[in-house]
Amino acid sequence: MIPEIEKASAQDIKTFQEEKLKDLLQYLNTQSPYYKRMFKEQNIDINSIHRLEDLTKIPTTTKDQLQQYNNDFLCVPKNKIIDYVTTSGTLGDPVTFALTDNDLNRLAHNEAMSFSCSGVTENDIMQLMTTIDRRFMAGLAYFLGARKLGAGIIRVGAGIPELQWDSILKFKPTYLIAVPSFLLKLIEHAKQHNIDLKKSGVKGAICIGEPLRNQDFSLNTLAEKITSQWQIDLYSTYASTEMNTAFNECEKQQGGHHHPELIIVEILDENDQPVSSHDVGELTITTLGVEGMPLLRFKTGDMVQAHTEACGCGRNTMRLGPVVGRKKQMIKYKGTTLYPPAMDNILNDFNEVESYIIEISSNSIGTDEIYIKIATKTPTDNLLSRIKDHFRAKLRVSPRIEILDKKEIQKLQFPIMSRKPVMVIDKRHNES
Ligand SMILES: [Zn+2]
Repeated sequence: MIPEIEKASAQDIKTFQEEKLKDLLQYLNTQSPYYKRMFKEQNIDINSIHRLEDLTKIPTTTKDQLQQYNNDFLCVPKNKIIDYVTTSGTLGDPVTFALTDNDLNRLAHNEAMSFSCSGVTENDIMQLMTTIDRRFMAGLAYFLGARKLGAGIIRVGAGIPELQWDSILKFKPTYLIAVPSFLLKLIEHAKQHNIDLKKSGVKGAICIGEPLRNQDFSLNTLAEKITSQWQIDLYSTYASTEMNTAFNECEKQQGGHHHPELIIVEILDENDQPVSSHDVGELTITTLGVEGMPLLRFKTGDMVQAHTEACGCGRNTMRLGPVVGRKKQMIKYKGTTLYPPAMDNILNDFNEVESYIIEISSNSIGTDEIYIKIATKTPTDNLLSRIKDHFRAKLRVSPRIEILDKKEIQKLQFPIMSRKPVMVIDKRHNES
């Protein structure tokens, strides 16, 4: 079922959001210590903000500000907070997010709508393969969303392929919620234990954490590796704690759909001005309907492209393409601009590459250098030159590539206190 507003014209969607924006500005001006102060200091008259275009009169909010003034973003007294969430901050300490009862309802609504966008109905059963605790928001959102939608949900959590298969065979889930590379582990386990993938009953997977598609929406190497062995539909999603909102693909799989009642989207250039349509820029969001810690013009640090043509599914809402990369990890390499995910795609094309780490640094003349360390069971010059050729052909760059011992790469990938493997070491921002 598609919400009415998502079938409305682009102009009607815009007018709808402008009304919601006015409510948000009034709310921030009375409840948010941070924004109240900012409006005053910057002489912002919120009553002069009528259209979405007027947003450029208001300064953006950065991750650093969110971290530095974390408590000032809270708009409710402490006794109204139900759930505490943290995200890793850019300056070291984690950033805290506080959700009220209304925020949890909004999160459930958001996720139910997003599941429904990806074709999940009340008749489906979902198997949750991510953690629901550890102060993460995503797992909780999935549970609340499934409940709101009326779908069944099996909370297996992350890892343990044996337990995952036991649940799949026992409860017959129709959708999995998983990190795509973990689906490869499930396939491997099934093969080793003579489990027939065709009879699993799984129709699709709601994928998180890793990209599935190239910028033209074709499946990337990782996704092809999965679907060539297991014929299930893979749905990309994009979400973050700061947004309290998800962008899921519909059955047409042409980018993650925007839900206009939940969030305002801007795609900005380096000067905080909107990019021309179809250009890549930094995703900047304004949350709608959030009570605990709403954000105004928050810069996510993710570089994306918006797609605005009407979608074949019947929705007229904007769609976000796959994340091109993190803004901070943009590499200027001999006249070319590129981001690490493009290099992931190249390296994933080689089955011989067991693991790798991408190191970015700046040299004495201030330009960026790329150094890729790979681990392989077949360390030959032939492999190295094939990888280098592939880089030149696909990205027009020839980074330094060397083969290292697997243990050494693992040590780099899993530093103490890290919640997830490190794939990129960016030495440019750590230099003092
Ligand atoms: Zn669609």
